[in-house]
Amino acid sequence: MEAQKIHKAGFVSIIGYPNVGKSTLMNRLVGERLSIISSKAQTTRHRIMGMLNGDDFQIVYSDTPGILQPKYKLQEAMLRFVHQSLEDADVILYVTDLFQSDPEENILRAIKTAGVPIIVVLNKIDLDKEGKTATLIDFWEKTLEPIKIIPISALLDANVPQVLESIMELLPEHPAYFPKDELSDKTERFFAAEILREKIFMNYKKEVPYSTEVVIASFKEEENIIRIAAEIYVERRTQKGILIGDKGSALKKTGTEARQEMEAFFGKKVFLEQYVRIAPDWRKKDPQLRRFGYEG
Ligand code: GDP
Ligand code: MG
Repeated sequence: MEAQKIHKAGFVSIIGYPNVGKSTLMNRLVGERLSIISSKAQTTRHRIMGMLNGDDFQIVYSDTPGILQPKYKLQEAMLRFVHQSLEDADVILYVTDLFQSDPEENILRAIKTAGVPIIVVLNKIDLDKEGKTATLIDFWEKTLEPIKIIPISALLDANVPQVLESIMELLPEHPAYFPKDELSDKTERFFAAEILREKIFMNYKKEVPYSTEVVIASFKEEENIIRIAAEIYVERRTQKGILIGDKGSALKKTGTEARQEMEAFFGKKVFLEQYVRIAPDWRKKDPQLRRFGYEG
């Protein structure tokens, strides 16, 4: 008689403070550019699942927004996503970097009380000119008592395979949670919106990226082209002016960059239309937030 093959599957929560490289790491681990990345804090606003599938395993990663004390309703929703991912987690990847070593007590408690193995990922070691890594390993050893601390550079793809290996050792025996050909829990529309939002985070300063939300009004896939209409919401008229720029130049640049990235992501030609709208104070209003997909 042939022995039944063991199948492993589990949820891995990728959490940590803003800007430590959570999204960069998740993209490395799944081998796809699912999560948008920028040098600004709070780029990621949702819990984004990314799956890594093998014949006898499935890892369901959750990239999450950076931990922060919420100042308005959007940030409350973002923090809820972090807690939801902790509730499901079989393994926690606590991501930190050379510059973030001052965790708040309530955050540490939430992580520890999840009751699942913790792996601390110490990212950005490519920037360690003063040999800080050893001291930080000591600090996290004491602070979180993790199963393992792995120094990596997500940017340069250094030591990332060790992270995968450690997860595999901790993955419970379980059937797959999602069909094996699925890469994420999010839709093509979601990724189209995120790609445009990433270019907005890259091209604008100060409050503009934070005040911006993107809604895909229509997404029509034809044989040789995808036609996408995107609505870009800002909070104020002045922001609309900045977004559009002189004779539309700023919006045109952003749109071109987004279209090119969408074409690479979807593997198809894209026609992108952009409409800039004003939704006053949308970050503070429940009905707007619900409409934009930030449900509790
Ligand atoms: P998140 O907010 O934690 O999701 O962080 P992101 O993945 O968006 O990355 C924040 C910034 O850190 C971006 O500018 C990344 O390019 C940069 N970054 C991420 N990983 C590394 C790394 O290993 N080394 C360096 N030098 N920069 C990194
Ligand atoms: Mg992120």
